Amino acid sequence: MVERNAGFANLSSGYLFPEVAKRRKAYQAKHPDAKIISLGIGNTTEPLTPHISGAMVDYARALGKKTGYSGYGDEQGNAVLRQKIADVLYPKMASAEEIFISDGAKCDIARIQTLFGRKTPIAVQDPAYPVYVDGSVIVGAAGKANKDKYKGVTYLPCTAENGFFPNLEVIKPNSLIYFCSPNNPTGAASTKSQLKKLVDYALKNGCIIIYDAAYYAFIRDDKLPKTIFEISGARKCAIEINSFSKLAGFTGVRLGWSVVPSTLRYADGSSVRDDWNRVMTTLFNGASNIAQAGGLAALDLEGMKETRGLVDYYLDNAKLMKETLERDNFKNAGVKVYYTGDSPYLWVHFPGWSSWDIFDKILDECRVVTTPGSGFGPAGESYLRFSCFGHREDVREACKRLALLKI
Ligand SMILES: *Cc1c(COP(=O)(O)O)cnc(C)c1O
Repeated sequence: MVERNAGFANLSSGYLFPEVAKRRKAYQAKHPDAKIISLGIGNTTEPLTPHISGAMVDYARALGKKTGYSGYGDEQGNAVLRQKIADVLYPKMASAEEIFISDGAKCDIARIQTLFGRKTPIAVQDPAYPVYVDGSVIVGAAGKANKDKYKGVTYLPCTAENGFFPNLEVIKPNSLIYFCSPNNPTGAASTKSQLKKLVDYALKNGCIIIYDAAYYAFIRDDKLPKTIFEISGARKCAIEINSFSKLAGFTGVRLGWSVVPSTLRYADGSSVRDDWNRVMTTLFNGASNIAQAGGLAALDLEGMKETRGLVDYYLDNAKLMKETLERDNFKNAGVKVYYTGDSPYLWVHFPGWSSWDIFDKILDECRVVTTPGSGFGPAGESYLRFSCFGHREDVREACKRLALLKI
């Protein structure tokens, strides 16, 4: 018999989203007429914009003609799109050869883990997007879980007390550091000086940062960095993972990119970028050419105007939610909303409550689904994540109900 990859046995079961779905279903079964609204969605809800979807329609139609047909493209992505990303998003920071187009950020995070040895220590923000750790466990870079922490992983608590930027001193030398900003789930967007600290720590201690910038388009404060490569020294210690998913509503279309600087080296001096090129050309066969046509359109002037409007729609939802969650019924119970307006997530603290208890109360009394913060890591206990992805009318209705909640 063939042996199972031991990593799978080390994974604890994906608890968060299945449990949310289970509780929602149980409530609906008891109250079949209740209209439940979800403010727990980590998925885009609004349609693609006309210029961008039009470019994909045109491309798809052309594929049906002799003159417009194309088969496999370069595995690293359409050269024009790579150049466009370099010019528009990384001027003087990265070149086209350092940009790799993919089928999405999550898929890149999974593939990137093949680059590093299993003995490489891992550090992650706590709370964090679950893929960083779960992927590490599958490839054997992290071991079995003890309670809610996996062996071989250094958790970096991001709390209200530290302004959601972790103490870096606990990170072991020669670690891989997964860092997401603006953060899912806390919504915190790191400042330049914070990221400078991170980069300096990585350089001094031989670490590589895997920087997830999937929510960069939500940053509205011009002083905040949109890419790790705005920080001097980052080209020697960082990889950026990025995506059209939250930028242009491409969660279903599937298109992302990574930036691996040619100046990034392993301990033995060899080039990380060259191995990544090898991974992408060997284990990946190129992103959909239709999606790439949409990506190109998203980065021209018309497309950028459209994606700005799309993201603004979600940010306006967030404003409505913030106003509601700061009303007296919440404030008098000590509830605190952490939200700066630069991400799609409000991170809300309910003192004296466990995440799941307040989740249940809001589901029972408001028919509103949220996401329990504890599901993203131990430091998320007593928090809920409210997502601004949703139709305006649903968000308004949810806010009306939340305004009446007695805590
Ligand atoms: C949604 C999300 C992504 C995007 O993943 P895709 O595979 O590109 O859709 C990446 N990182 C984080 C933290 C996310 O929340």
